[in-house]
Amino acid sequence: MCLAFVWGEMKTVDMSHDLSIATPFWVGMPRFNFTILNRNNTSRGFWLENNAFQIAEHGGTHLDAPAHYYKGSWRTQLIPMDSLFGPGVVINVTDKVLTNPDYRVKTSDLSQWEANYGRIPPNAVIIMNSGWQYKFPNKTRVFNTTDPEDPSTYHFPGWHEEAVQWLVDNRQVNIIGVDTPSTDYGQATHFPVHVLLGKYQIPGLENVANLDNVPKHGAIIYAPVVKLHDGSGGPARVFATYDDDAAVVCFASRVSLGVSYVLVLFVFLFPYVLVIRFKQRERAR
Ligand SMILES: [Zn+2]
Repeated sequence: MCLAFVWGEMKTVDMSHDLSIATPFWVGMPRFNFTILNRNNTSRGFWLENNAFQIAEHGGTHLDAPAHYYKGSWRTQLIPMDSLFGPGVVINVTDKVLTNPDYRVKTSDLSQWEANYGRIPPNAVIIMNSGWQYKFPNKTRVFNTTDPEDPSTYHFPGWHEEAVQWLVDNRQVNIIGVDTPSTDYGQATHFPVHVLLGKYQIPGLENVANLDNVPKHGAIIYAPVVKLHDGSGGPARVFATYDDDAAVVCFASRVSLGVSYVLVLFVFLFPYVLVIRFKQRERAR
Protein backbone atom coordinates (compact mmCIF):
# COMPACT_ATOMS: atom_id res chain seq x y z
CA MET A 1 0.00 0.00 0.00
CA CYS A 2 1.41 3.38 -1.02
CA LEU A 3 0.11 6.67 0.29
CA ALA A 4 1.43 8.78 -2.57
CA PHE A 5 -1.66 10.98 -2.57
CA VAL A 6 -0.80 12.15 0.95
CA TRP A 7 2.88 13.02 0.52
CA GLY A 8 3.49 12.85 -3.22
CA GLU A 9 6.09 14.81 -5.15
CA MET A 10 6.52 13.49 -8.70
CA LYS A 11 10.05 13.04 -10.05
CA THR A 12 11.14 12.04 -13.54
CA VAL A 13 14.28 10.30 -14.78
CA ASP A 14 15.51 10.41 -18.38
CA MET A 15 16.65 6.84 -19.14
CA SER A 16 17.92 7.44 -22.69
CA HIS A 17 21.38 8.06 -24.12
CA ASP A 18 21.85 10.90 -26.62
CA LEU A 19 21.50 9.81 -30.26
CA SER A 20 24.47 11.15 -32.22
CA ILE A 21 27.25 10.21 -34.59
CA ALA A 22 29.03 8.89 -31.48
CA THR A 23 26.28 6.28 -30.81
CA PRO A 24 27.81 2.77 -31.02
CA PHE A 25 26.15 0.25 -33.38
CA TRP A 26 26.49 -3.50 -33.83
CA VAL A 27 28.91 -4.58 -36.53
CA GLY A 28 27.39 -4.44 -40.02
CA MET A 29 24.89 -1.69 -39.17
CA PRO A 30 25.05 1.61 -41.08
CA ARG A 31 26.37 4.54 -39.05
CA PHE A 32 24.02 7.15 -37.64
CA ASN A 33 23.70 10.01 -40.10
CA PHE A 34 22.72 13.56 -39.21
CA THR A 35 22.53 16.15 -41.97
CA ILE A 36 21.91 19.83 -41.31
CA LEU A 37 19.45 21.11 -43.93
CA ASN A 38 19.02 24.63 -42.54
CA ARG A 39 20.68 26.43 -39.64
CA ASN A 40 20.64 30.06 -40.67
CA ASN A 41 18.83 33.39 -40.86
CA THR A 42 16.38 33.42 -43.74
CA SER A 43 15.88 36.27 -46.22
CA ARG A 44 12.52 36.89 -44.51
CA GLY A 45 14.16 37.74 -41.19
CA PHE A 46 13.55 34.66 -39.03
CA TRP A 47 15.94 31.94 -37.89
CA LEU A 48 15.39 28.43 -39.27
CA GLU A 49 16.78 25.06 -38.15
CA ASN A 50 15.90 21.63 -39.52
CA ASN A 51 17.83 18.43 -40.13
CA ALA A 52 17.51 14.96 -41.60
CA PHE A 53 18.71 11.85 -39.78
CA GLN A 54 19.06 8.18 -40.63
CA ILE A 55 19.40 5.42 -38.06
CA ALA A 56 19.52 1.61 -37.92
CA GLU A 57 16.72 0.40 -35.61
CA HIS A 58 18.92 -1.39 -33.07
CA GLY A 59 21.32 1.26 -31.83
CA GLY A 60 21.24 3.70 -28.93
CA THR A 61 18.42 3.44 -26.39
CA HIS A 62 15.84 1.44 -28.30
CA LEU A 63 13.06 -1.13 -28.17
CA ASP A 64 13.12 -4.56 -29.83
CA ALA A 65 9.73 -5.46 -31.30
CA PRO A 66 8.77 -9.14 -30.76
CA ALA A 67 9.08 -9.63 -34.54
CA HIS A 68 12.85 -8.99 -34.26
CA TYR A 69 13.63 -12.70 -33.59
CA TYR A 70 10.25 -14.41 -34.05
CA LYS A 71 8.39 -14.64 -37.34
CA GLY A 72 4.79 -13.49 -37.15
CA SER A 73 5.07 -11.64 -33.80
CA TRP A 74 4.27 -7.95 -33.44
CA ARG A 75 6.19 -5.48 -35.54
CA THR A 76 6.80 -2.06 -34.03
CA GLN A 77 3.52 -0.33 -34.85
CA LEU A 78 1.48 -3.33 -33.65
CA ILE A 79 2.80 -3.38 -30.07
CA PRO A 80 -0.18 -2.38 -27.88
CA MET A 81 0.30 0.95 -26.11
CA ASP A 82 -0.47 -0.64 -22.74
CA SER A 83 2.57 -2.91 -23.21
CA LEU A 84 4.89 0.10 -23.49
CA PHE A 85 4.92 1.08 -19.82
CA GLY A 86 4.51 -0.46 -16.40
CA PRO A 87 5.80 -0.70 -12.82
CA GLY A 88 9.60 -0.57 -12.83
CA VAL A 89 11.65 -3.46 -11.44
CA VAL A 90 15.39 -2.71 -11.45
CA ILE A 91 17.62 -5.76 -10.95
CA ASN A 92 21.03 -4.61 -9.74
CA VAL A 93 23.92 -6.89 -10.74
CA THR A 94 26.73 -4.31 -10.69
CA ASP A 95 28.77 -6.27 -8.09
CA LYS A 96 28.50 -9.56 -10.00
CA VAL A 97 29.50 -7.94 -13.29
CA LEU A 98 32.70 -6.51 -11.78
CA THR A 99 34.19 -10.01 -11.59
CA ASN A 100 32.25 -11.54 -14.52
CA PRO A 101 31.39 -9.35 -17.54
CA ASP A 102 29.64 -12.38 -19.10
CA TYR A 103 27.12 -12.45 -16.23
CA ARG A 104 23.51 -13.35 -17.05
CA VAL A 105 20.60 -12.39 -14.79
CA LYS A 106 19.43 -15.55 -12.99
CA THR A 107 16.13 -16.60 -11.46
CA SER A 108 17.83 -16.22 -8.05
CA ASP A 109 18.35 -12.50 -8.81
CA LEU A 110 14.58 -12.20 -9.26
CA SER A 111 13.95 -14.12 -6.02
CA GLN A 112 16.34 -11.78 -4.21
CA TRP A 113 14.48 -8.72 -5.57
CA GLU A 114 11.16 -10.20 -4.40
CA ALA A 115 12.64 -10.94 -0.95
CA ASN A 116 13.55 -7.24 -0.68
CA TYR A 117 10.55 -5.55 -2.30
CA GLY A 118 7.68 -8.03 -2.59
CA ARG A 119 6.19 -9.89 -5.54
CA ILE A 120 7.02 -8.53 -9.00
CA PRO A 121 3.92 -6.49 -9.91
CA PRO A 122 1.74 -7.28 -12.96
CA ASN A 123 2.69 -5.49 -16.22
CA ALA A 124 6.23 -5.00 -14.90
CA VAL A 125 9.04 -3.36 -16.87
CA ILE A 126 12.05 -5.33 -15.60
CA ILE A 127 15.49 -3.94 -16.36
CA MET A 128 18.99 -5.19 -15.53
CA ASN A 129 21.29 -2.56 -14.05
CA SER A 130 24.88 -3.71 -14.59
CA GLY A 131 26.48 -0.27 -14.42
CA TRP A 132 27.17 -0.40 -18.16
CA GLN A 133 25.70 3.05 -18.78
CA TYR A 134 29.01 4.69 -17.82
CA LYS A 135 30.81 3.05 -20.77
CA PHE A 136 28.70 4.90 -23.38
CA PRO A 137 29.35 5.98 -26.07
CA ASN A 138 32.85 4.38 -26.19
CA LYS A 139 32.35 1.46 -28.60
CA THR A 140 35.23 -0.74 -27.40
CA ARG A 141 34.11 -0.29 -23.78
CA VAL A 142 30.39 -0.83 -24.56
CA PHE A 143 31.09 -4.10 -26.42
CA ASN A 144 34.02 -4.77 -24.06
CA THR A 145 36.30 -5.91 -26.84
CA THR A 146 39.51 -4.99 -28.59
CA ASP A 147 37.84 -5.71 -31.95
CA PRO A 148 34.32 -4.23 -32.37
CA GLU A 149 34.25 -5.78 -35.88
CA ASP A 150 34.21 -9.32 -34.39
CA PRO A 151 31.08 -10.14 -32.28
CA SER A 152 32.70 -13.36 -30.99
CA THR A 153 34.96 -11.11 -28.89
CA TYR A 154 32.08 -9.22 -27.19
CA HIS A 155 31.86 -9.51 -23.41
CA PHE A 156 28.92 -7.79 -21.73
CA PRO A 157 26.14 -9.00 -19.40
CA GLY A 158 22.52 -9.77 -20.29
CA TRP A 159 19.66 -12.09 -19.27
CA HIS A 160 19.78 -15.85 -18.85
CA GLU A 161 17.00 -17.56 -20.80
CA GLU A 162 15.98 -19.60 -17.72
CA ALA A 163 15.18 -16.39 -15.80
CA VAL A 164 13.15 -15.07 -18.75
CA GLN A 165 11.26 -18.38 -19.01
CA TRP A 166 10.56 -18.24 -15.25
CA LEU A 167 9.07 -14.76 -15.67
CA VAL A 168 6.95 -15.94 -18.60
CA ASP A 169 5.65 -18.91 -16.58
CA ASN A 170 5.19 -17.27 -13.19
CA ARG A 171 4.73 -13.49 -13.52
CA GLN A 172 3.12 -11.05 -15.95
CA VAL A 173 5.74 -8.91 -17.66
CA ASN A 174 5.35 -6.08 -20.18
CA ILE A 175 9.01 -5.41 -21.06
CA ILE A 176 12.41 -6.96 -20.26
CA GLY A 177 15.44 -4.72 -20.64
CA VAL A 178 19.15 -4.15 -20.16
CA ASP A 179 21.65 -1.29 -19.95
CA THR A 180 23.89 -3.19 -22.41
CA PRO A 181 23.57 -3.54 -26.24
CA SER A 182 21.60 -6.83 -26.09
CA THR A 183 19.15 -8.73 -23.85
CA ASP A 184 21.33 -11.77 -24.67
CA TYR A 185 24.86 -11.50 -23.23
CA GLY A 186 27.80 -10.61 -25.47
CA GLN A 187 28.97 -14.21 -25.92
CA ALA A 188 25.56 -15.44 -27.17
CA THR A 189 25.58 -17.22 -30.52
CA HIS A 190 21.92 -18.29 -30.88
CA PHE A 191 20.22 -15.45 -28.96
CA PRO A 192 17.78 -17.58 -26.91
CA VAL A 193 16.52 -14.58 -24.91
CA HIS A 194 15.60 -12.67 -28.07
CA VAL A 195 13.77 -15.75 -29.39
CA LEU A 196 11.85 -16.23 -26.12
CA LEU A 197 10.87 -12.56 -25.94
CA GLY A 198 9.63 -12.72 -29.53
CA LYS A 199 7.71 -15.96 -28.97
CA TYR A 200 5.85 -14.53 -25.95
CA GLN A 201 5.26 -11.07 -27.48
CA ILE A 202 7.43 -9.29 -24.90
CA PRO A 203 9.29 -6.21 -26.21
CA GLY A 204 12.96 -5.89 -25.20
CA LEU A 205 14.73 -2.69 -24.17
CA GLU A 206 18.44 -2.16 -24.81
CA ASN A 207 21.08 0.45 -23.95
CA VAL A 208 18.95 1.92 -21.16
CA ALA A 209 20.61 4.78 -19.22
CA ASN A 210 20.50 6.35 -15.74
CA LEU A 211 19.27 3.26 -13.89
CA ASP A 212 21.15 4.36 -10.78
CA ASN A 213 18.66 7.24 -10.52
CA VAL A 214 15.56 5.03 -10.80
CA PRO A 215 14.17 3.44 -7.60
CA LYS A 216 14.57 -0.35 -7.61
CA HIS A 217 10.81 -0.50 -7.09
CA GLY A 218 7.95 1.98 -7.02
CA ALA A 219 8.61 3.83 -10.33
CA ILE A 220 6.61 3.65 -13.55
CA ILE A 221 8.85 3.14 -16.59
CA TYR A 222 7.73 4.24 -20.06
CA ALA A 223 9.26 3.08 -23.36
CA PRO A 224 7.46 5.07 -26.05
CA VAL A 225 9.03 3.66 -29.20
CA VAL A 226 8.69 5.50 -32.50
CA LYS A 227 5.64 4.16 -34.43
CA LEU A 228 7.66 2.70 -37.27
CA HIS A 229 5.48 0.82 -39.75
CA ASP A 230 6.66 -2.80 -40.12
CA GLY A 231 9.75 -2.09 -38.01
CA SER A 232 11.56 -4.72 -35.93
CA GLY A 233 12.03 -2.12 -33.21
CA GLY A 234 13.14 1.49 -33.07
CA PRO A 235 14.50 4.36 -30.97
CA ALA A 236 12.62 5.09 -27.74
CA ARG A 237 12.82 8.02 -25.32
CA VAL A 238 12.70 5.82 -22.21
CA PHE A 239 11.86 7.58 -18.95
CA ALA A 240 10.60 6.89 -15.44
CA THR A 241 8.32 8.70 -13.05
CA TYR A 242 8.13 8.07 -9.33
CA ASP A 243 6.95 9.62 -6.14
CA ASP A 244 9.97 10.56 -4.06
CA ASP A 245 8.33 10.46 -0.64
CA ALA A 246 5.91 7.65 -1.46
CA ALA A 247 8.83 5.25 -1.66
CA VAL A 248 9.49 5.89 2.03
CA VAL A 249 5.82 5.47 2.93
CA CYS A 250 5.64 2.25 0.90
CA PHE A 251 8.65 0.96 2.78
CA ALA A 252 6.99 1.90 6.06
CA SER A 253 3.88 -0.01 5.04
CA ARG A 254 6.03 -3.07 4.36
CA VAL A 255 7.47 -2.86 7.85
CA SER A 256 4.00 -2.61 9.32
CA LEU A 257 0.75 -1.82 7.61
CA GLY A 258 -0.69 -0.93 11.04
CA VAL A 259 1.98 1.71 11.58
CA SER A 260 1.00 3.37 8.28
CA TYR A 261 -2.66 3.52 9.26
CA VAL A 262 -1.79 5.04 12.64
CA LEU A 263 0.42 7.57 10.86
CA VAL A 264 -2.40 8.61 8.51
CA LEU A 265 -4.93 8.83 11.35
CA PHE A 266 -2.49 11.00 13.30
CA VAL A 267 -1.86 13.36 10.35
CA PHE A 268 -5.59 13.83 9.67
CA LEU A 269 -6.95 13.78 13.22
CA PHE A 270 -4.34 15.82 15.05
CA PRO A 271 -5.30 19.22 13.50
CA TYR A 272 -8.99 18.33 13.98
CA VAL A 273 -8.46 17.60 17.70
CA LEU A 274 -6.52 20.86 18.08
CA VAL A 275 -9.42 22.88 16.60
CA ILE A 276 -11.96 21.21 18.92
CA ARG A 277 -9.77 21.86 21.98
CA PHE A 278 -9.35 25.49 20.92
CA LYS A 279 -13.14 25.94 20.59
CA GLN A 280 -13.74 24.32 23.98
CA ARG A 281 -11.32 26.77 25.58
CA GLU A 282 -13.01 29.70 23.84
CA ARG A 283 -16.37 28.59 25.24
CA ALA A 284 -14.94 28.11 28.74
CA ARG A 285 -13.75 31.73 28.84
ZN1 LIG B 1 17.75 -4.38 -30.47
